[in-house]
This record gives sequence, C-alpha cells and structure tokens, in this order.
Amino acid sequence: MNHTDFYKLNQRIKKQEYDELFLAVQAHGGCYQWAGGDDDEKPLIAVNPNSISPDPIDVFINKVEIVNGFLEIYGRDKNNDDEVDFGPEDVFTEGLGYIIDCISETDKVSDVTISMYDYKEVLADICYELGVSQVTINNNSRALIAKTIEWADEFDRLHKNTDWHEVDYLNAIHEFTRKKIAHYKGHIYHTCSCCGHGVFQYEKVDDEKNEITLTCDNCEVEIIGHEADSIYHKAEKILNPS
Ligand SMILES: [Zn+2]
Repeated sequence: MNHTDFYKLNQRIKKQEYDELFLAVQAHGGCYQWAGGDDDEKPLIAVNPNSISPDPIDVFINKVEIVNGFLEIYGRDKNNDDEVDFGPEDVFTEGLGYIIDCISETDKVSDVTISMYDYKEVLADICYELGVSQVTINNNSRALIAKTIEWADEFDRLHKNTDWHEVDYLNAIHEFTRKKIAHYKGHIYHTCSCCGHGVFQYEKVDDEKNEITLTCDNCEVEIIGHEADSIYHKAEKILNPS
C-alpha cells in the first residue's frame, strides 16, 4: 500500500533539529560544554553509531562544537563511560532537539526556532501562479499537486543558501514558477490566418505524444496536430506577456 514517505519526513525533521542546534551552539560562540562531573545535568540521548549497532547506545553528551562549519558532538557511554564516536546523523529523531533543551539561553539568544513559514509561502505562491495561469497538467489534479510540491522542493533546494535580504523573493518565486508553467502553457508569437492577430496561446499535454494545442488569443481558432507542433517549435515564446 502507498503511504507518506516517512523516511523523507524524518530526514526533514532531523535536518531542522541539526540546524537549530547549530544556531544554539553558535549563540555560545561555537562551543557548548556540560563541564561539571554531574551527569544529571548532561543531556542523555540514544545514538546508533554509523547506523550499524545492534542496539542503540545511551550517551551522556558533554560537548557540542562547530568544527569547520559542521557540528561535532562528544559524549560517553552511559553504561561503561567509554567515549563514543558518532556524528549528528547517528542520533535518533528528537535527540538533537533534546540537546537544545539542555543549552542555556544567552543575553541575546533565547530561541533558535527556524520558521517553516518560508516553505509554506513558496507552496502558496506556486499555487497562486498556477491558479492565475489556469494551467492543468494532463487534466489530472493529483499530477498538478505532485508537481506543485516537486517545484516547491526544488525552489527550496535552489535557494538553500540565498540571503533574502539580498534577493527579492517575490521576483525569484515569480520567475521560477513562470518558467515551470511555460513548459505546459503560455503564449507565442504567430499570426492568425483567420483574424490576423499575432498571439496564440499554447497548451501542452505532458505525455509521450506531447500534444500541443494552439488557440488564437483573439478569435479562438484552434490549431492542433502536426501543424500546431511545427508552429510551436518555430515560434518565439513570450515569457512575460503584459
Ligand atoms: Zn485569430
């Protein structure tokens, strides 16, 4: 049976935990230690080193440090006090979040929550553009929804390191979506043999035939089949119709 891609969802949560822990450690100058001998104060988390251990190990964390831009976590086995060699990726979901619980606030930073708002905004913006252009994908709503999410993920990846103080978000999302939509629907320059108007709308079905329908913007005459195909491939696309 089909189900949610829980692996992917889990990876997303773990990435967010990592990013927020990174911010928490950064707030303390790049290193945080639970130096005292008292284990009660140290975060105790379950770790599966290299994801190959038969059983998870309970580890008392004593230090988290940013080394060359990456988080290094140090801790000792709860049972035998041996140092355990592991990376953040070996920590079970919610483990890194628990470490953040055990890091004190600073004068300047009391919250390292990374808002999911941006991703939602991206999704909403793509939906909006799709609605405005009334694009359909093979007349299948699920295909359209899947594409929407695929595009939002792609935009998210593309702009992982974008500083939105430098780049105009509205322009970026608009251009990105417009280019995506142009694969399915848009306008080209072509003179109508019925009314003489110079702009046609094209719509493309995304299957093995890649069938194209051209409609005159003025008299709505339709061109289909080979003729539409050849006109479409020769014509100039209008990326930003006014
Ligand atoms: Zn016409």
